[in-house]
Amino acid sequence: MAQDAELRPGETTVELPPAQDAWLRFIGRIRTPFLERADCPRQGSLDGPECRVELIPELEPALDGIDRSETIELLYWLDRSRRDLLTQSPRGSGDLRGTFSLRSPNRPNPIGTSVVRLVRREGTVLVVRGLDCLDGTPLIDLKPARCDHAKRPDPTAGA
Ligand code: SAM
Repeated sequence: MAQDAELRPGETTVELPPAQDAWLRFIGRIRTPFLERADCPRQGSLDGPECRVELIPELEPALDGIDRSETIELLYWLDRSRRDLLTQSPRGSGDLRGTFSLRSPNRPNPIGTSVVRLVRREGTVLVVRGLDCLDGTPLIDLKPARCDHAKRPDPTAGA
Protein backbone atom coordinates (compact mmCIF):
# COMPACT_ATOMS: atom_id res chain seq x y z
CA MET A 1 0.00 0.00 0.00
CA ALA A 2 1.38 3.41 -0.88
CA GLN A 3 2.08 5.60 2.13
CA ASP A 4 2.71 9.07 0.85
CA ALA A 5 2.59 10.89 4.20
CA GLU A 6 6.03 11.92 5.44
CA LEU A 7 6.70 12.10 9.18
CA ARG A 8 6.58 15.60 10.67
CA PRO A 9 8.90 16.69 13.53
CA GLY A 10 8.02 14.92 16.80
CA GLU A 11 5.61 12.40 15.27
CA THR A 12 5.92 8.86 16.62
CA THR A 13 5.22 5.49 15.04
CA VAL A 14 4.70 1.94 16.27
CA GLU A 15 5.39 -1.54 14.90
CA LEU A 16 1.92 -3.10 14.96
CA PRO A 17 1.07 -6.80 15.19
CA PRO A 18 0.28 -8.43 11.83
CA ALA A 19 -3.13 -7.52 10.38
CA GLN A 20 -5.99 -9.93 10.98
CA ASP A 21 -8.27 -10.16 8.02
CA ALA A 22 -11.65 -8.46 8.57
CA TRP A 23 -12.95 -9.89 5.27
CA LEU A 24 -13.76 -6.48 3.96
CA ARG A 25 -14.74 -6.22 0.32
CA PHE A 26 -14.31 -3.03 -1.62
CA ILE A 27 -17.76 -2.43 -3.09
CA GLY A 28 -16.75 0.28 -5.52
CA ARG A 29 -14.55 3.29 -6.14
CA ILE A 30 -15.00 6.97 -5.53
CA ARG A 31 -14.14 9.33 -8.36
CA THR A 32 -13.33 12.85 -7.28
CA PRO A 33 -11.57 15.82 -8.87
CA PHE A 34 -8.91 15.58 -6.13
CA LEU A 35 -5.73 14.06 -7.59
CA GLU A 36 -3.31 15.06 -4.82
CA ARG A 37 -3.72 15.28 -1.07
CA ALA A 38 -3.17 19.00 -1.30
CA ASP A 39 -6.26 19.26 -3.56
CA CYS A 40 -8.54 17.55 -1.00
CA PRO A 41 -10.49 19.57 1.52
CA ARG A 42 -9.83 18.51 5.11
CA GLN A 43 -13.55 17.65 5.38
CA GLY A 44 -16.05 17.64 2.52
CA SER A 45 -18.78 20.24 2.24
CA LEU A 46 -22.32 19.61 0.98
CA ASP A 47 -21.81 22.34 -1.60
CA GLY A 48 -18.47 20.89 -2.74
CA PRO A 49 -17.87 19.58 -6.28
CA GLU A 50 -19.86 16.70 -7.75
CA CYS A 51 -18.16 13.33 -7.22
CA ARG A 52 -19.10 9.86 -8.48
CA VAL A 53 -19.54 6.87 -6.22
CA GLU A 54 -19.22 3.87 -8.57
CA LEU A 55 -20.64 0.68 -7.12
CA ILE A 56 -19.65 -2.69 -8.58
CA PRO A 57 -22.42 -3.85 -10.96
CA GLU A 58 -23.20 -7.04 -8.96
CA LEU A 59 -24.52 -4.87 -6.13
CA GLU A 60 -26.96 -2.76 -8.18
CA PRO A 61 -30.12 -4.25 -6.56
CA ALA A 62 -28.76 -3.24 -3.16
CA LEU A 63 -29.25 0.40 -4.18
CA ASP A 64 -33.04 0.10 -4.44
CA GLY A 65 -34.61 2.85 -2.38
CA ILE A 66 -31.42 4.86 -1.88
CA ASP A 67 -32.90 7.74 -3.91
CA ARG A 68 -35.28 8.39 -1.03
CA SER A 69 -32.40 9.72 1.05
CA GLU A 70 -31.22 13.28 0.59
CA THR A 71 -28.03 12.58 2.48
CA ILE A 72 -26.09 9.36 2.73
CA GLU A 73 -23.13 8.28 4.78
CA LEU A 74 -20.15 6.82 2.94
CA LEU A 75 -17.39 4.73 4.46
CA TYR A 76 -14.19 4.49 2.48
CA TRP A 77 -10.69 3.12 2.77
CA LEU A 78 -8.07 5.85 2.84
CA ASP A 79 -5.67 3.65 0.94
CA ARG A 80 -2.72 6.02 0.80
CA SER A 81 -2.48 6.51 4.58
CA ARG A 82 0.23 5.62 7.05
CA ARG A 83 -1.01 3.03 9.54
CA ASP A 84 1.76 3.25 12.12
CA LEU A 85 1.35 6.71 13.65
CA LEU A 86 0.83 6.99 17.42
CA THR A 87 1.13 10.75 17.65
CA GLN A 88 0.78 13.21 14.86
CA SER A 89 1.13 16.84 14.13
CA PRO A 90 -1.93 18.07 12.22
CA ARG A 91 -1.11 20.02 9.08
CA GLY A 92 -0.13 23.58 9.90
CA SER A 93 -0.63 23.23 13.68
CA GLY A 94 2.74 22.46 15.27
CA ASP A 95 0.81 20.56 18.04
CA LEU A 96 1.41 16.89 18.71
CA ARG A 97 -1.75 14.82 19.32
CA GLY A 98 -2.69 11.17 19.73
CA THR A 99 -3.99 9.54 16.55
CA PHE A 100 -7.38 8.70 18.07
CA SER A 101 -7.96 12.30 19.07
CA LEU A 102 -7.86 13.33 15.40
CA ARG A 103 -9.81 12.69 12.19
CA SER A 104 -6.52 12.32 10.34
CA PRO A 105 -6.45 9.78 7.47
CA ASN A 106 -3.35 8.24 9.11
CA ARG A 107 -4.59 5.62 11.60
CA PRO A 108 -4.23 1.87 12.13
CA ASN A 109 -7.42 1.18 10.15
CA PRO A 110 -7.73 4.10 7.74
CA ILE A 111 -11.51 4.26 7.45
CA GLY A 112 -12.95 7.61 6.37
CA THR A 113 -16.58 8.62 6.70
CA SER A 114 -18.53 11.48 5.14
CA VAL A 115 -22.15 12.46 5.03
CA VAL A 116 -22.79 13.55 1.45
CA ARG A 117 -25.70 15.02 -0.49
CA LEU A 118 -27.17 12.64 -3.06
CA VAL A 119 -27.56 14.71 -6.24
CA ARG A 120 -28.80 11.89 -8.47
CA ARG A 121 -28.44 8.21 -9.23
CA GLU A 122 -27.27 6.95 -12.62
CA GLY A 123 -27.63 3.15 -12.42
CA THR A 124 -24.78 1.93 -10.23
CA VAL A 125 -23.33 5.43 -9.91
CA LEU A 126 -24.34 7.88 -7.21
CA VAL A 127 -23.50 11.49 -7.97
CA VAL A 128 -22.86 13.22 -4.65
CA ARG A 129 -21.43 16.37 -3.09
CA GLY A 130 -19.51 16.47 0.17
CA LEU A 131 -16.41 14.35 -0.33
CA ASP A 132 -12.83 14.94 0.72
CA CYS A 133 -11.02 11.88 -0.66
CA LEU A 134 -8.55 11.28 -3.45
CA ASP A 135 -9.73 10.08 -6.84
CA GLY A 136 -9.92 6.27 -6.88
CA THR A 137 -10.43 5.81 -3.12
CA PRO A 138 -12.05 2.39 -2.47
CA LEU A 139 -15.61 2.35 -1.10
CA ILE A 140 -16.43 0.11 1.88
CA ASP A 141 -20.10 0.84 2.61
CA LEU A 142 -22.93 3.31 2.16
CA LYS A 143 -26.15 3.86 4.10
CA PRO A 144 -28.74 6.57 4.67
CA ALA A 145 -27.42 9.30 6.96
CA ARG A 146 -28.67 8.88 10.52
CA CYS A 147 -31.01 11.87 10.43
CA ASP A 148 -32.31 11.31 6.93
CA HIS A 149 -34.47 8.23 6.66
CA ALA A 150 -36.97 8.56 3.79
CA LYS A 151 -36.76 12.36 3.52
CA ARG A 152 -37.82 12.27 -0.13
CA PRO A 153 -41.33 11.09 -0.96
CA ASP A 154 -41.56 7.53 -2.19
CA PRO A 155 -42.27 7.90 -5.95
CA THR A 156 -44.16 4.59 -5.94
CA ALA A 157 -46.38 5.45 -2.98
CA GLY A 158 -50.05 5.38 -3.95
CA ALA A 159 -49.23 3.93 -7.39
N1 SAM B 1 -14.10 12.77 6.19
C1 SAM B 1 -13.26 11.67 6.57
C2 SAM B 1 -13.37 11.43 8.07
O1 SAM B 1 -13.60 12.37 8.81
O2 SAM B 1 -13.26 10.26 8.48
C3 SAM B 1 -11.81 11.85 6.16
C4 SAM B 1 -11.15 13.04 6.77
S1 SAM B 1 -9.41 13.11 6.38
C5 SAM B 1 -8.95 14.50 7.40
C6 SAM B 1 -9.43 13.82 4.76
C7 SAM B 1 -8.01 13.97 4.25
O3 SAM B 1 -7.48 12.67 4.00
C8 SAM B 1 -7.90 14.69 2.95
O4 SAM B 1 -7.83 16.09 3.14
C9 SAM B 1 -6.60 14.13 2.37
O5 SAM B 1 -5.50 14.83 2.91
C10 SAM B 1 -6.55 12.73 2.93
N2 SAM B 1 -6.95 11.68 1.97
C11 SAM B 1 -7.97 11.72 1.11
N3 SAM B 1 -8.09 10.58 0.42
C12 SAM B 1 -7.10 9.77 0.86
C13 SAM B 1 -6.69 8.44 0.54
N4 SAM B 1 -7.31 7.70 -0.39
N5 SAM B 1 -5.63 7.94 1.22
C14 SAM B 1 -4.99 8.67 2.15
N6 SAM B 1 -5.32 9.94 2.49
C15 SAM B 1 -6.37 10.48 1.86
